[in-house]
Amino acid sequence: MFEYHASSNLLANRNILVTGAGSGIGRAAALSYAKHGATVILLGRTTTKLEAVYDTIEENQWPQAALFPMDLEGATEQDYTHLAEAISEEFGHLDGLLHNAGLLGELKPLSQYDTDTWNKVMQVNLNAPFLMTRALLPLLRKSTDASIIFTSSGVGHQGRAHWGAYSVSKFATEGLMQTLADEEDGISSVRCNSLNPGGTRTPMRAKAFPGEDPLSRPTPEDIMPLYLYLMGPDSQGSSGQAFHAQQ
Ligand code: NAP
Repeated sequence: MFEYHASSNLLANRNILVTGAGSGIGRAAALSYAKHGATVILLGRTTTKLEAVYDTIEENQWPQAALFPMDLEGATEQDYTHLAEAISEEFGHLDGLLHNAGLLGELKPLSQYDTDTWNKVMQVNLNAPFLMTRALLPLLRKSTDASIIFTSSGVGHQGRAHWGAYSVSKFATEGLMQTLADEEDGISSVRCNSLNPGGTRTPMRAKAFPGEDPLSRPTPEDIMPLYLYLMGPDSQGSSGQAFHAQQ
């Protein structure tokens, strides 16, 4: 497990957007960022789940969060422009962006892989992070210390039979991250890295490995040290790199 001890005010005065913030790893990251002082913008497709995270932040008297319901599968360029305008009006700039929302798709050989499913997985896992990053980059460049985290996977580094579009989308995510890191190098304070959470106790993991004892995997809370490290100032100077939460 990646070891890091975050100070309680690590993310004070930072505005951080988390996608897929309503459940699983995204929920844990949103709560962890708020607990460490950040104002978190909760983005996801199920409003009730986002509201529950919002309420938990309120109950703990952490900085008040903002809600932004959005279905990344159907989102248009206009929707991303609207998102950027809303953040600009409310906050003026953005200090962090965690691309966490993800779709597993189906576990099948490529020879039998359904075209619609392929397109949906690519849309949510790859096209959405590209479109969102492009729209939010001007706001991130206004920050003195901005961090973008792209969520990867073990199958984004080594292909595996039956992982189809999911694996390919995560490989492409690594390419997106490296390309952006190289482009921002020397011209802005924006750094970006990829983060492979490793097998973690969430609904997606249970779907991918139905026979596995969920208790054998760490919880989303267990893997938060790397999420905090990459989002906070201690990771300044690291960009274009692939990080693994469980190694
Ligand atoms: P999860 O429990 O299935 O959560 C996925 C999140 O993405 C949910 O909040 C979901 O929203 C959101 N989402 C899915 N489709 C969306 C859409 N069209 N628009 C907006 N939001 C959408 O998965 P997880 O395990 O926490 O995974 C989080 C990230 O880690 C993913 O990128 C995944 O690929 C990666 N990862 C996970 C593991 C693991 O073992 N868990 C391992 C490697 C990588 P709803 O709740 O509203 O559906």
